[in-house]
Amino acid sequence: MTAIAYASPFVPVEWIAAHGLRPLWLRPPAAGGGAEFAAARGVCPYAGAVVDAAETGIDASALVLTTICDQMRFASALIESSGRCPVFLLNVPSTWQTGEARSLYLAELCRLGRFFEKHGGKPPNGAELARVMLAYDRARSALLSAQSTLSARQFAETAAKYRGPLETASPPKPDAPPADGIPLAVLGGPLLEADYEFFDVLQRAGGRVVLDATEGGERTMPRGFDPRKIDADPLRALADAYFNAIPDAFRRPNAALYEWLGRELAARHVRGIVFRRYVWCDLWHAELQRLKRWTALPVLDLDAGADDVAAPNRMQGRFEAFLEMLA
Ligand code: SF4
Repeated sequence: MTAIAYASPFVPVEWIAAHGLRPLWLRPPAAGGGAEFAAARGVCPYAGAVVDAAETGIDASALVLTTICDQMRFASALIESSGRCPVFLLNVPSTWQTGEARSLYLAELCRLGRFFEKHGGKPPNGAELARVMLAYDRARSALLSAQSTLSARQFAETAAKYRGPLETASPPKPDAPPADGIPLAVLGGPLLEADYEFFDVLQRAGGRVVLDATEGGERTMPRGFDPRKIDADPLRALADAYFNAIPDAFRRPNAALYEWLGRELAARHVRGIVFRRYVWCDLWHAELQRLKRWTALPVLDLDAGADDVAAPNRMQGRFEAFLEMLA
């Protein structure tokens, strides 16, 4: 089956799968190569790693990126100019509370659908799209219900799998974290594959991640689909569940991010926030200042460069000091 890679939660996995294509949630393996080169030039190492992955070859016919930040736009142009991998840049407006912005996102999904057809996809009928949407919805709901029985690493890995083809994503076996760990939230942007080690290090240091608000985690899952809206117009229901519901640092206004955090931090009795951002990521760096003004909870600012994104020993000391303060 033809695969389509994507690297943003604003690309609905259901839309790819409903076209008969295999969704591939791009997780560049580790920093190095393009990531290090990017960081040395003042560019986000994650964007550099995406370029690197596309240049060295991803197991997909095309790559979908979004306009959520300038660095991703630049990455898209760079990949396209090299001719190594067809790339589609999905326009996701940062202003989002107007009818025009919502219509634009919906129109972008239609344009993306035409791109899929050029790369081997078949246009889905409404019933097929609805079936795929409900299948992903059930999988995400089951994962969220099982969250307390999973370690943070398991939850993150399974959430990543559920952004791919569901047929190959088996439900995780429960492996609950120690119940006496200090409840924490992890907030921030995307993670490289090697960065998932981060959750284990945090757990070994005595933390218990009860809210994964990174780009691959719970924060960016679409709202549950309303079956009546699916019956009326599945594509519109899909667009609404993503565009109207996912809180993120690039959105303007971004009050929804704080509404979501306020609700979820309180419900899970979070005692501290680990804020994970890449150096050179202006979006999340700016958000850090807002977060500190907004919350009374202690915040650990973890800025990751290209050479230390997966350096567990260095991270461990910082986690231990933070958790000692919270104990
Ligand atoms: S981490 Fe920041 S700079 Fe890097 S791609 Fe994401 S939003 Fe853009």
